[in-house]
Amino acid sequence: MREELLALAKLAEMDDSARDIDAELKQIPQSLEELRENVQTLETMLAQERQQLDEAEQLKVQQSTELKERNEGLQRARKKAAQASSIREADAGEREIEANRRSMREREEELGRIGQAIEAKTASLAEREKDFEEAKGVLQSQAESSKARITELEEQRAQMFNGRDDLAAKVPKSIIKRYERLKTGITNVVLIIKDGTCTGCRMALPPQLTIELQRANELHQCPHCRRIIIHKSVVED
Ligand SMILES: [Zn+2]
Repeated sequence: MREELLALAKLAEMDDSARDIDAELKQIPQSLEELRENVQTLETMLAQERQQLDEAEQLKVQQSTELKERNEGLQRARKKAAQASSIREADAGEREIEANRRSMREREEELGRIGQAIEAKTASLAEREKDFEEAKGVLQSQAESSKARITELEEQRAQMFNGRDDLAAKVPKSIIKRYERLKTGITNVVLIIKDGTCTGCRMALPPQLTIELQRANELHQCPHCRRIIIHKSVVED
């Protein structure tokens, strides 16, 4: 049974190593996707901020036009007031002058606010553009290095599984079946035991079991976590 257990231990070691590779192979596209989403989010924000800036610029033009119109209105009202032929007309002219002045003040205040908003938006837009370019750069370099890493991992994986079939052939089918079944539920299914403790669940093994493990006459499982346990002396010679 020693040979069979050794083959199983080696086979399980292969599978365990490949599991890390598989996990990394799965992780790489996920990381890339996160970066891609980040770039997309920044792009959307950038578009929104550009639109806000456009709107502010339009508002500025609109308010400037109104200011100009009010100023013209003020000139007309002044002329009218100067040419008034009655007190009533003069009063009306004064009211018109005042209304235009008030409106001009409001437009000027509004233009001040818009100017500040445009300034702030322009600054944050520049910042956002920088972030966007940076994120795009990171994504691009990450995509390139990921491609290389995937090729590397796939080669490693193929190499790692080189000889797996030969090992599997040395292990009785019933044991392979049991191993495969256990593998679907737990990780590190096959453990090498150095002393009287299961390295999987940290529970103490019965002394009799520890002795039997060293004899390696049959397949043993940890009575607590059900992992297959093999004594280190089996794999060490
Ligand atoms: Zn255990």
